[in-house]
Amino acid sequence: MGGVLTSAPVASSWASGRLDTFARGTDSALWHKWFQNGWSGWESLGGVLTSAPCAVSWGNGRIDVFARGTDSALWHKWFQNGWSGWESLGGVLTSGPAVSSWASGRLDVFARGTDSALWHKWFQNGWSGWESLGGVLTSAPCAVSWGNGRIDVFARGTDSALWHKWFQNGWSGWESLGGVLTSGPAVSSWASGRLDVFARGTDSALWHKWFQNGWSGWESLGGVLTSGPGAVSWGPNRIDIFATGTNSAMWHRWWSAVQTVRLHAKILTAPNVAVNTSVQRMREVYATGGIGVELASTENLNLPSLNIVDVGECVRGQATAEQNQLFANRNNAGANDVVVYFVQATDPPFNGCAAHPAGQPGAVVAQGATQWTLGHEVGHVLGLNHVNNNDRLMTGNGTANITNPPPDLIDTEVATMISSPFTQDI
Ligand SMILES: [Zn+2]
Repeated sequence: MGGVLTSAPVASSWASGRLDTFARGTDSALWHKWFQNGWSGWESLGGVLTSAPCAVSWGNGRIDVFARGTDSALWHKWFQNGWSGWESLGGVLTSGPAVSSWASGRLDVFARGTDSALWHKWFQNGWSGWESLGGVLTSAPCAVSWGNGRIDVFARGTDSALWHKWFQNGWSGWESLGGVLTSGPAVSSWASGRLDVFARGTDSALWHKWFQNGWSGWESLGGVLTSGPGAVSWGPNRIDIFATGTNSAMWHRWWSAVQTVRLHAKILTAPNVAVNTSVQRMREVYATGGIGVELASTENLNLPSLNIVDVGECVRGQATAEQNQLFANRNNAGANDVVVYFVQATDPPFNGCAAHPAGQPGAVVAQGATQWTLGHEVGHVLGLNHVNNNDRLMTGNGTANITNPPPDLIDTEVATMISSPFTQDI
């Protein structure tokens, strides 16, 4: 990405696919490079910085940037229809600042004070004074908000481990998250309750730890960093990371995952529409919601007594004795993988049935099913209900009656599918 950086780079984003990166240049000024349908060159935004900058966006076309000045005070510059000048916000900082925003017009700024504690200042209809939040920091802090009234702050402690403090109806104490950091941390969040923390390790590589229903261990992401990282997320399952390399230039890598349904096909009777064709039709429909479909395995099962399987009234949450027997044949499928049993018929006769025993997500599809039945039944497994509309995958009038193929998924259906445990980050 070029440039000659004399600080760690930082990044902010105000929209999907928009990135703004900032760093201190060899002239100690603030430099800016952005991505929108392609990367800009570097532009100078002036000033004399004595720390890395930090940046956040709280609305479309809005960026707030902070850094320490030559007087050790906090300085602030913002973009909204053009760049402001620099304003001083006082204080005596012994690290670069961090900033987060949980709502339009709300800013929370953090920095290490002369006592090595974390200090906090915020903007909401005007700037607060500085408050101390304690601790003993050996790096600049980093901060992110994933919801209204929620802030997570991280810094390196005297033991070089990662420490964490958060605000939600009041400040928590500090908790240690381990590791041995050789830079300040960076943090991003792409969903409520999701945190991704990055830092340089003792091997100069980038290390990553995340929170989602509990903290992961540390994983190495490789590379050779000569600064701390910067991180930002601009959408679900998207993280952009920036750091300085051994050539002092900025380096960029990103992570993006697709919410994917992992299918296993268990064939008692080969369906009239080939499994691969039904999977392809399902992919076409699910792709309109950005959801991937992976056929992880195909296996023939010799279970003649279950080839015409009793599905009772086919009510989700209720499974018959024969469904319990059939769905026990998961054969190494992952706990959140969806297993589809292709049978000769159901009793009573349906094209398919998505009722399954608890903890064994799956469905049956009958030999005479249509090309849309597989996607429809898995839609039920992911939490979708019938609708009375033959333009849609989830029509309750029979998928043979679908008009204007491929059938539609609507936004609320896609949201339900993505929030299902049976769509996985892959
Ligand atoms: Zn149905």
